[in-house]
Amino acid sequence: MSLSHPIYVTKSFFPPLKEYNHYLERIWKNEWLTNRGELTLELEKKLKEKLAVDTILITNNGTIPLQIALKILGNYGEIITTPFSYIATTSAIIWENCTPVFVDIDPDYLTIDELKIEAAITDKTTAILATHVFGNPCHVERIEEIAKKHNLHVIYDAAHCFGVNYKGQSIFNYGTVSTCSFHATKIFHTGEGGAIFCKDQKLYEKIFYSHNFGHNGPEDFHGLGINAKISELQSAMGLTVLNHFDSIFENRKRVVDFYTKNLKFERISKIKIRENTEWNYSYYPVIFESEEMLLTVLKTLNDNKIYPRRYFYPSLNKVNYVHGANMPISESVASRVLCLPLYKDLTDEEVSVIVNLINPLTC
Ligand SMILES: *Cc1c(COP(=O)(O)O)cnc(C)c1O
Repeated sequence: MSLSHPIYVTKSFFPPLKEYNHYLERIWKNEWLTNRGELTLELEKKLKEKLAVDTILITNNGTIPLQIALKILGNYGEIITTPFSYIATTSAIIWENCTPVFVDIDPDYLTIDELKIEAAITDKTTAILATHVFGNPCHVERIEEIAKKHNLHVIYDAAHCFGVNYKGQSIFNYGTVSTCSFHATKIFHTGEGGAIFCKDQKLYEKIFYSHNFGHNGPEDFHGLGINAKISELQSAMGLTVLNHFDSIFENRKRVVDFYTKNLKFERISKIKIRENTEWNYSYYPVIFESEEMLLTVLKTLNDNKIYPRRYFYPSLNKVNYVHGANMPISESVASRVLCLPLYKDLTDEEVSVIVNLINPLTC
């Protein structure tokens, strides 16, 4: 069977327009568009309940929270980080005039290899910025131990982690600061948006004023800040999408289970999810035996109007403006990993076409 329409790696979830309009009517009635309006506060309250976290600050995307955290905690020092993530993890470090120091990844979990972190620490190191890749938690206990021992802050880029629990609680509860992205392509979205999580009340207050230009009332300032506020229009989208989250989650699980059941894992492998994790089915990465095999599969899929994505590629230490040491595992995985299409409305029939194109090329 072939498909009449192209299939992309993801498809933004569009809630019924009527439901979005219901929230827009409230905005029009309030005549209030941004600066922590009623809908933004309501979304924060609902997300706190949904995720079972004590604090959340919703922001305009998932990158500025990383920059705010690095501005406050990075102190122009060396930041130990992963080469296997989205570019924002590394670019935020450089943007904040800190220096990324890469530590290679674990070949199964694809998260930063905690056993290699200590060797990379110097007297200039100020923080560890690690990504819970594809929603798969880092070894948070070991990282916390290392951070304590060397007096470092831990920032987690948890952009992929909406709904992920580790050892019975939200993964956002780990680290000095944790961030999330609500970008249109993420599992929960507000069009553009994100959040920052921080349990330390003093630090949270600093983050809070930093996200609103540093304001302490209209005429006074606590300190330096930036604009990381979300608008009511985006919060309206978040409230509408949130009402459908259980169905988004269930359907992604359906697609993931279908891939896992039907793909032949002989010369390809899948990510190993860390023990004690309730995962969120946010991505479906497959790792091929060789880059050559990946390219063959990619071409065949593209010829059939199916567009998976080489994600993450390249390894971040290889980006032209980044000066990183070689990271053999990350570079090898990055050259062989493909994220397969995964979204709520992807049908079993469509997934079956994808699987049937891949299997003969990998056995
Ligand atoms: C999406 C993403 C970001 C950036 O989030 P935005 O909301 O697009 O700014 C950062 N890190 C990772 C790992 C991501 O996937």
